[in-house]
Amino acid sequence: MDSGRIVWAPHVEHGFILGTITDIGSTTITVQPTAANTKAITASYNQVFPAELDNKKEADDNCSLMYLNEATLLHNLRIRYSKDKIYTYVANILIAVNPYHDVPALYNQQQVAKYKGKSLGLLPPHCYAIADKTYRDMKVLGLSQSIIVSGESGAGKTENTKFVLRYLADNYGSGDDIDKRIVQANPLLEAFGNAKTMRNNNSSRFGKFVEIHFMKVGRVVGGFVSHYLLEKSRIVMQNSRERNYHIFYRLCCGAPLDIRSKLQLSSPDNFRYLRHGCTQYFIGDKEAAKVKDVLSDEHKEKGGLKDILLNDYADYTKLVGSMKQIGVSHDDMLDIFQVVAGVLHIGNITFEEGGDSSGGCIVSETSAKSIQITSQLLGLDASALTEALTTRSMRSAGESNTIKVPLKQEQSSSAREALAKSIYSRLFDHVVSRINQCIPFQASDGFIGILDIAGFEYFEVNSFEQFCINYCNEKLQQFFTKRVLREEQDLYAKEGLGVHELIKPVKHIWTLSQKTLLSDLIESPRTGILDILDEENKLPTSSDHHFTSVIHLKHKNHFRIAIPRKAQLATHRSLRDDEGFLIRHFAGAVCYQTVQFVEKNNDALHNSLEILVANSKNKLVSQIFKSSQTHSTKGKLNFISVGNKFKVQGLYACCTKLLNGTNQLLHLCFAACNLCKSHKRFSRCPALSVLNNTGSSFIRCIKPNLSMQGALFEGGQILSQLQCSGMVSVLDLMQGGFPSRAPFNEVYSMYKAIMPPKLKRLDSRLLVGLRKVVNLLTQLGRLREMTGVLKDNRREMLLKVEKHEKNI
Ligand code: ADP
Ligand code: MG
Repeated sequence: MDSGRIVWAPHVEHGFILGTITDIGSTTITVQPTAANTKAITASYNQVFPAELDNKKEADDNCSLMYLNEATLLHNLRIRYSKDKIYTYVANILIAVNPYHDVPALYNQQQVAKYKGKSLGLLPPHCYAIADKTYRDMKVLGLSQSIIVSGESGAGKTENTKFVLRYLADNYGSGDDIDKRIVQANPLLEAFGNAKTMRNNNSSRFGKFVEIHFMKVGRVVGGFVSHYLLEKSRIVMQNSRERNYHIFYRLCCGAPLDIRSKLQLSSPDNFRYLRHGCTQYFIGDKEAAKVKDVLSDEHKEKGGLKDILLNDYADYTKLVGSMKQIGVSHDDMLDIFQVVAGVLHIGNITFEEGGDSSGGCIVSETSAKSIQITSQLLGLDASALTEALTTRSMRSAGESNTIKVPLKQEQSSSAREALAKSIYSRLFDHVVSRINQCIPFQASDGFIGILDIAGFEYFEVNSFEQFCINYCNEKLQQFFTKRVLREEQDLYAKEGLGVHELIKPVKHIWTLSQKTLLSDLIESPRTGILDILDEENKLPTSSDHHFTSVIHLKHKNHFRIAIPRKAQLATHRSLRDDEGFLIRHFAGAVCYQTVQFVEKNNDALHNSLEILVANSKNKLVSQIFKSSQTHSTKGKLNFISVGNKFKVQGLYACCTKLLNGTNQLLHLCFAACNLCKSHKRFSRCPALSVLNNTGSSFIRCIKPNLSMQGALFEGGQILSQLQCSGMVSVLDLMQGGFPSRAPFNEVYSMYKAIMPPKLKRLDSRLLVGLRKVVNLLTQLGRLREMTGVLKDNRREMLLKVEKHEKNI
């Protein structure tokens, strides 16, 4: 880094801006931006990065640039994005920047056909290329493959997942109905599991792992969807600019009159579960005028109706179409809708104080009708429902008969919300298993699984949901790290190079930091957060405060956890120490507010409600409750841990699936997985080592701006996504290693000056085959550059340089 050199200097809004070095201090560098009228920037060494000599150059594979760093990556993405080239490789990892507008040229049938059978890198970067690579790997290696799609909400995960699925079905389908069904399952999943949020008008509120199964000949035979962590709080509460799940509005606004009247549905405004959220919905042409009234000013300005992406009226028709296509009968569909309507009506049941001395409450007179309708739709007895909502059965110690304790108004309200959440989430499970029934297969030789889950999240207030999501991301990140490291090492081994000494420190930091967080803090038996939480749930007088204190007590000196006081978050009210904890995740520190952690960790309904619904006369309702009844043993505390379920069934299930995919491994895996199940320990799952041997590819989705607009590239926040997703560390790793993806001639001319004289005399063409020499030269060049800047350890470095020169 010499004076006058062109570099990237840090910039809050753009991420980085181009400039020339004007001064080099002992710890900082001063850069004069190239743009006119911009003040000089002074930043520390590690924030200023060398720029490519030609800054208009773009590369399909970012790793073929000479300088691999976060600034050149960001710049490469920016140039490409401006040309609608939304996909870019970083070695084998695909980065996809959401274009926020249709790019038909990218996804038409010609494109689908073009990528078939082509090696990665032959054609421009594309999710199709990744799909084809996994397919070919699956066939050649006889191993199931996974594609892990990650990114923030709204970054394009679900869209890319759909493109990949369609690609595989179109190119490698069996040509019959099953291909279409696998693709058509999506609108159904989205109707029940997606909602409009501030970040994404069609945000998936659950994670999924979609498998597409193949026979040896390479044709699709069926599919299987696993899902986890549906956001339940949304069913009863949404913030004012968000909506509940699409299905509710589609039924209210789009269903034909006979269905609506049978289910007693009317405008969404009439339902408490829909009223508080955003009232954007579309009822159909005749009622368009009414919709205009409820449009926000913002939308009116943008041109009103045309701009609404949510067309509940039209979407209902589409939904019915796709249910039909995947083979859900009309009657089954109506049964499902009836339960959805039941949930809406539950929300309209309200309570008021009873007036007698018991302190209990009664169902408000105004909602007597809602009790009737709910009972009728859900096959319950109205008075039994009333009783179950307003009282609780208790068994006092030593006595065999139960007594009914009246519930206070807020207790009844929370019982109602718990009921609604429980019914809806089980209905969602049912919808998923219904989908799976429609894409069955007898036998399969392998599969490609696509994982679409929420990325790392942090908001002003972070609760249990964020904790689970971030835990899962931590887990995936660990997997990602291992995979990328290993692939790099394999590559070097192929060229006859050992693990390079510059990689070693990176490798060490990478693997160490994640391991401790997961194994010490979250998953460890008894002292991990998940187990402490489960223990708290089992206490007779459990509380969030106590739970929080235990965590701080057990992990007092752990560098990855801190009390909220240390969070120094200006964004929200400061928390007391027993109200939260701060975790230093790989992607940044998050302060979790622990209020409701204990409650949210328990998936069970209170006993009388559970018994009531399990014995419903409505077949579907009793079915969805009976299947989970086995968990609650009579007389014991009703407790189903969400945290552990997530750990054991969520990611665990997905990994088990991955493992079970191949016949050769089947036997081994079953044994291994049974072992883990009994230990309930995903972390020590011996099968994880097998997972590490299964192929996987990564698609990292990037959200270009917060306003969901096309052609707007907000550098600053894109950079932080690249950092969060571990992409920057990947670049560090690759820059620290060998420039094995850079064009040979560039490397040669760049380092010619420092070549030992003997080599320099050779014709450059003679060196083409000697990659190893060139690679070593690169290292030499870097070491020399470093010695130029280093103040400490300079001698040590110079010795290394000498040694290297000899080697060459
Ligand atoms: P995520 O699942 O990551 O939350 P989505 O896949 O739902 O995000 O994408 C959010 C929105 O962005 C989509 O509804 C769509 O409008 C737009 N979008 C995402 N990817 C693409 C793409 N490749 N082409 C066009 N639009 C896209
Ligand atoms: Mg999504």
